[in-house]
Amino acid sequence: MSPNVLVTGGAGYIGSHTSKELARAGYNVFIYDNLSRGHRWAVRWGPLIEGDLHDTERLRRVMEENRIEAVLHFAALIAVGESMQTPEVYFHNNVVGSLSLLNAMRAAGVGKIVFSSTAGVYGIPEIIPIEESSPTVPLNAYGDSKLMVEKILHWEGVCHGLQYIALRYFNAAGGDPDGETGEDHYPETHLIPCLLQAAQGARDPCPIFGDDYPTPDGTCIRDYVHVTDLAEAHVKALHYLERGGSNATLNLGTGHGYSVKEILIAAEKVIGHPVPVVQQPRRPGDPPLLVAAAGRAGEVLGWKPTRSSLDNILGTAWRWQEQHAALARG
Ligand code: UDP
Repeated sequence: MSPNVLVTGGAGYIGSHTSKELARAGYNVFIYDNLSRGHRWAVRWGPLIEGDLHDTERLRRVMEENRIEAVLHFAALIAVGESMQTPEVYFHNNVVGSLSLLNAMRAAGVGKIVFSSTAGVYGIPEIIPIEESSPTVPLNAYGDSKLMVEKILHWEGVCHGLQYIALRYFNAAGGDPDGETGEDHYPETHLIPCLLQAAQGARDPCPIFGDDYPTPDGTCIRDYVHVTDLAEAHVKALHYLERGGSNATLNLGTGHGYSVKEILIAAEKVIGHPVPVVQQPRRPGDPPLLVAAAGRAGEVLGWKPTRSSLDNILGTAWRWQEQHAALARG
């Protein structure tokens, strides 16, 4: 019989791509989302259960009634800037909400979880590429909220035998190769969708934040990983836990970085015309260089990013933007 899994935040960007990969791998997917940031249209690979993370009793009932065997936990607020305006909202949602979920799991006898973490836990790294054992000194409340949940998972493992994998994503990017789901945040602050929307004339010219960083072309360097590669890592993490693998916290990145200017040039090539941009000062809190030491996820899970070339990331993101804008226009 196919195992039943609960995907919190399954109506969101990475959650919906992962729901698709889980369904393809033979899981029965149940999506738990309050639709505060997610989209009904992104729920295509299992029933939507509309609900809030803080509703522990509801979560327990949902898990018992649907004989859930594992949870993939994406539901979170993710905007760095917003987290510095209202940190209390971030801790309430991301930390207290996760505690509620873990309490419900314990009550329902569900002992496996794959958790959506972030490279934002590292802050400004001392050494590149960034190993999982690097110091964790988040620069913002969002990153710290994820780090707190990682610590809670650790102690749930020690004290209650919880099995978990925490996945620290670098820069998630791109869209579903079949165009069935894609990135749609409001407001959109991420570089690639900003560039593509500016190219469509759907927004003002895309800002380039800072050109005086200590990098070869003066712009920040990031490790972009295709969202379907991320989704596949979650399926592998679940298989690993099912085999009884021990708890781990892993980077998900490619080990290769691209600057903002390199992304711009590659985007113009994919789109076929110049993208309107405007040079702006540095954005507060942006480290110059973030690149993953990407080998450990390969060793532990047997995962390797295979879809994360810039061409594929930008090509799938562009097709999604074009199609999505057409849908939005009706
Ligand atoms: N960036 C930019 N213009 C934008 C959005 C982002 O120049 O409109 C830069 C940002 O300063 C960072 C990189 O692009 O160096 C990636 O930013 P993004 O917000 O996509 O992801 P982050 O690395 O902050 O998670």
